[in-house]
Amino acid sequence: MTEPMKKLHGKVAIVTGAASGIGEVTARHFADHGALAVVIADVQDVKGREVAASIGSDRCTYIHCDVTDEEQVKSLVDSTVQLYGRLDVMFSNAGIGSASGQTVLELDLSGFDKVMAVNARGMAACVKYAARAMVEKGVRGSIVCTASFLAQFGTEGQTDYTMSKHAVLGLVRCASMQLSTRGVRVNCVSPGLVATPLVSKSLKVGAEELRAMMEAVYPGSTGPLTEKHVADAVVFLASEDSEFISGHNLVVDGGRGMNVIAPL
Ligand code: NAD
Repeated sequence: MTEPMKKLHGKVAIVTGAASGIGEVTARHFADHGALAVVIADVQDVKGREVAASIGSDRCTYIHCDVTDEEQVKSLVDSTVQLYGRLDVMFSNAGIGSASGQTVLELDLSGFDKVMAVNARGMAACVKYAARAMVEKGVRGSIVCTASFLAQFGTEGQTDYTMSKHAVLGLVRCASMQLSTRGVRVNCVSPGLVATPLVSKSLKVGAEELRAMMEAVYPGSTGPLTEKHVADAVVFLASEDSEFISGHNLVVDGGRGMNVIAPL
């Protein structure tokens, strides 16, 4: 077992979608766990730079990266390796919510393309270039992708998002198998409902409505699922504590997933 608060001692990590929500909290958690360097990648430049500055310019850098642009993803990984010598951990987390909130009967296919471009294609690009950099340098790396509790079930009205998150499971299963003899592990986390901007935007709910929804989904004394619960799971998958775990889908929902899907 590695020392409790230093599970990522000396590691160089990229977190995509780190300007907000789960990515932001996980980037901070990586730094708290002793990461040598954390690269914050996002399209929200002002927020991304603020997060990087608050972690500390000695070991945190912001790099603009739209994961739908393959060249930008390649450049993100190349720049990280140039700056810090190698890449040990890729947390491929950037994602957007449902563009339409529609059933398959009314599906807006241009919205569908947008969701798939970020959540499925963008995820594949991040895995591709991170794995290449790890294999090239002979690094025993860990790649963690963010799927969702909605990757476990069908939904009534989130067809595009649900499909995109099922694609993440397929990607992780293929990549983990293909990279198993090259020393690179690939896993995913599937968070339950967390109150982030992505949720309020895609469900079109304000802060008060979201709070009520969270209370209904997570009743009782344990309180709601937070970004920190997800970040703890990501640190586990990124660290050597999970050194023989690959191709796994770690659901972090307190067992509540099925209770959430009905209204979605
Ligand atoms: P969030 O909106 O707070 O964060 C998402 C981040 O991704 C934002 O900073 C956004 O700017 C960035 N992003 C969006 N498109 C991008 C692009 N093309 N390139 C680079 N960055 C981009 O939302 P969140 O809830 O923290 O979402 C993080 C991940 O967790 C997503 O993949 C989401 O699908 C997944 N997830 C969220 C929940 C939830 O309930 N919040 C549940 C399951 C899975």
